[in-house]
Amino acid sequence: MEFQLNEEQVMLKRMVHEVAEKEFRPKVTEWETKAEFMPREYFKKLSSLGLLGLSVPVEYGGQGRTAFEVILAIEELARVSILCALPVFESGVGPVRVIEQFGTEDQKRKYIPPVCQGESWCAVGMTEPEAGSALTDLSTRAVLNGNYYVVNGTKCFITGGGEADIYVTYVRLSEQKGAKGIGGLIIEKGAAGFSFGKQEQFMGWRGVPSCDLIFEDCRVPKENLVVREGDFRRLMTAFDLERCGNATMCLGIAQGALEQAIDYSQQRKQWGKDICEFQAVQFMLADALIKVEAARLLIYRATVNAATGLPSPLEANLAKCFANQMVRDVTALVLQIHGGYGYSKDYPVERMLRDGWGWGIAGGSIEIQKTTIASQLLNRRFDQRK
Ligand SMILES: Cc1cc2nc3c(=O)[nH]c(=O)nc-3n(C[C@H](O)[C@H](O)[C@H](O)COP(=O)(O)OP(=O)(O)OC[C@H]3O[C@@H](n4cnc5c(N)ncnc54)[C@H](O)[C@@H]3O)c2cc1C
Repeated sequence: MEFQLNEEQVMLKRMVHEVAEKEFRPKVTEWETKAEFMPREYFKKLSSLGLLGLSVPVEYGGQGRTAFEVILAIEELARVSILCALPVFESGVGPVRVIEQFGTEDQKRKYIPPVCQGESWCAVGMTEPEAGSALTDLSTRAVLNGNYYVVNGTKCFITGGGEADIYVTYVRLSEQKGAKGIGGLIIEKGAAGFSFGKQEQFMGWRGVPSCDLIFEDCRVPKENLVVREGDFRRLMTAFDLERCGNATMCLGIAQGALEQAIDYSQQRKQWGKDICEFQAVQFMLADALIKVEAARLLIYRATVNAATGLPSPLEANLAKCFANQMVRDVTALVLQIHGGYGYSKDYPVERMLRDGWGWGIAGGSIEIQKTTIASQLLNRRFDQRK
């Protein structure tokens, strides 16, 4: 078993680290404070460095690299802010990979290259007001009428909502209940009958657009069907890759927070000594490092084993579930190490705590992940309805 990065991976990590520090660190506080999303020119910047669609095959405009390399890039960016990591996440492990795995050749050629070029942004619409954890209860309905699907329903909490250009949207394609009737359509911003709700005011993720998607007799060309009815379970396996990306957002935030604590605890003096000289502070630092390193190993295992394909569901769930809790714990420890200053907006750690918390809700809550892990461990299905 090899625990060292190879030369190319070291170079990638170093390059992304420098870009994150030079290009993004000076801007993120302003974007977060004004709740403004990153201007599109920064998507272009990420694209020019080959960071959009890192793991997408070259024929669709990507770099053809492994899931592990996407993870390395996401961690370095999320260390500074989730704002600059988000386009790399969406294009490397997010909904673009669903189009790549499930789409027709025409869909791949039409929709993926603009995302890799930083000209288009792809979001995913699953959650509905009455179907969150119980996703298979979703009721957004698509009815085929000649060459179009007519879509009616509402999605909520959609990251990228209002700003993204295309939405991989999960809909009920027939009257069949549960997972069986669900499929996915690519719906373009600007389609007749497609509008957006007001922007969410989340506690964290400031600057990340999020809103309802509202479909009222929205007409979608039938060739935009990307996930066929009955393929929902297979689709959830593609989602395991996104789970690794979600876990890595947590890792990046926690790593960034830990670095703040390393500096602060060696600068702040009380009782005439650096506060790192107090055992209680040392324990907090040690606990933070133990948790960060454990999460990193789980994420690395899941993504190295995935290579250019999909990760094992259990490995991805373990990584996400652990990292989701880890980032809450680590950012809380780091805030405590900063005392009153940690609680102030003058230091970045309160933002890191707010941003970190959301990942244990997005992409499936920690509790749902644990139920899935137990089900995989025991090889039994637990019907939540009975
Ligand atoms: C920051 C953020 C970004 C998001 N981005 C997107 C996006 O881009 N696209 C998208 O489609 N959705 C997105 N979501 C929505 C997210 O996927 C849902 O919020 C999530 O699946 C939980 O659904 P819910 O909010 O309806 O909570 P609920 O399902 O109502 O859950 C409420 C509580 O009950 C618990 N619970 C529910 N069922 C069970 C059970 N069977 N066993 C144990 N506990 C249970 C949950 O763990 C939770 O603690 C985002 C959410 C957030 C916060």
